[in-house]
Amino acid sequence: MDRREFIKKLGLGGATIGAAAVVGCKGGSQGEVGSSLSDIPKGKMTLRENHNSGDKVSILGYGCMRWPTKKGKDGKEEMDQERINELVDTALEYGVNYFDTSPVYCQGMSEHATGIALSRHPRESYYIATKMSNFSPDTQTKEGAIAMYENSLKELQTDYIDYMLLHAIGGSMEEYQKRFVDTGILDYLMKEREAGRVRNLGFSFHGQQSVFDEMMALHDTIHWDFVQIQMNYLDWYHANEMNSFNVDASYLYNELTKRDIPVVIMEPLLGGRLSKVNGNVLRMLKAKEPDMTAASWAFRYCGSYPNVLTALSGMTYMEHLVDNLHSYCPLKPLTEEERTYLEDDVANEILKYPTIPCTACQYCMPCPYGLDIPGIFAHYNKCINEGLMPSSTQDPEYQKLRRAFLVGYDRSVPKLRQANHCIECCRCLEHCPQKIEIPTEMHKIDEYVEKLKQGLEL
Ligand code: SF4
Ligand code: SF4
Repeated sequence: MDRREFIKKLGLGGATIGAAAVVGCKGGSQGEVGSSLSDIPKGKMTLRENHNSGDKVSILGYGCMRWPTKKGKDGKEEMDQERINELVDTALEYGVNYFDTSPVYCQGMSEHATGIALSRHPRESYYIATKMSNFSPDTQTKEGAIAMYENSLKELQTDYIDYMLLHAIGGSMEEYQKRFVDTGILDYLMKEREAGRVRNLGFSFHGQQSVFDEMMALHDTIHWDFVQIQMNYLDWYHANEMNSFNVDASYLYNELTKRDIPVVIMEPLLGGRLSKVNGNVLRMLKAKEPDMTAASWAFRYCGSYPNVLTALSGMTYMEHLVDNLHSYCPLKPLTEEERTYLEDDVANEILKYPTIPCTACQYCMPCPYGLDIPGIFAHYNKCINEGLMPSSTQDPEYQKLRRAFLVGYDRSVPKLRQANHCIECCRCLEHCPQKIEIPTEMHKIDEYVEKLKQGLEL
């Protein structure tokens, strides 16, 4: 049995239904990085003009869902404001001017930290994007939703929002109706737009094509100023194949472009999957451009589409920011041939390694039973990518691979946070925008780990 058949037999990588909720801050993953700040020219950031507002937006946008944290005096994780300020200062200095946050990012602390860092700079030097993240019942009334919006203004220390999004549309139109229409919050935000306190109104999308089509049909009456979609070279033609709940990015992008609606990109690295690629894929990329990182290929790909206003990256570490600045100061667009190479040859090579489509967004966290859900999936995906999954006890490499998998598991996920602690309560399910069947996957991973531990046939 080859690795692909074995992984199929193991049956990992399924999907279910739901919407997003409270998001934790955790370091993003960008794999190898190659540049230093002194290599980056200032004043060279590529800007894209938003034809609705005339805004000149940096092609690199700052995703504020993965700000660095540190241990506080009481031992609890808190925002590392000093490092956040430093990241924001450097980003602004090199031309990044779009900052995307939400009331639910970083366990509800992102807007506050982002507001502190940004308010140290002139308000006209940056654009703020935030969201109507009314997932919990207390924010699904008009008063509750307005209170959330007003709190965003307060935390961000501003009296207007440049880019306001209805957060995570896509589950169903009934959900859209309940959260935004029945509460009256959509009407309210449209009035705020007329009054100039919301400068651009749009939505972020994760979900079914039928819902997207209905949202597009509403464009004539609502006028979406921009839409945020998941787009990268793997999702361009393969999003639906990887997860039947998702829509290919080529469809979303073309439908938006047809209507002249600017596109904001999320997940340009697909949760790190396009930066930490396996050896074969890396060789394919290096054969074309030896000095370019895998992440840089993915960012340049996104920026090469002209209707992309900005591509968001959740940069926790300075080296990620530097690597991304290197890709975008200025952007050197990919040629048609290079784009096709990524969309076809490289994407097909990556698909030979069917990892779980976790983007490490942390929407499912915290798990009430302490599991490190994205950490467990990250270890599993890493082992698939690096060929560290023994497929049988007869495998000549069995002992070596078994050890590598188990030792790596204990190192990357503390024992108390591993898959065997999942009680299948299903509370995480509704929060995963990728519709991953989290408890089912946990059960399968745990079974696999147990068999490895006991030396049983896989
Ligand atoms: S199903 Fe498992 S992983 Fe999900 S919240 Fe419950 S215990 Fe945590
Ligand atoms: S399992 Fe889903 S919600 Fe949780 S981190 Fe991964 S993609 Fe995000």
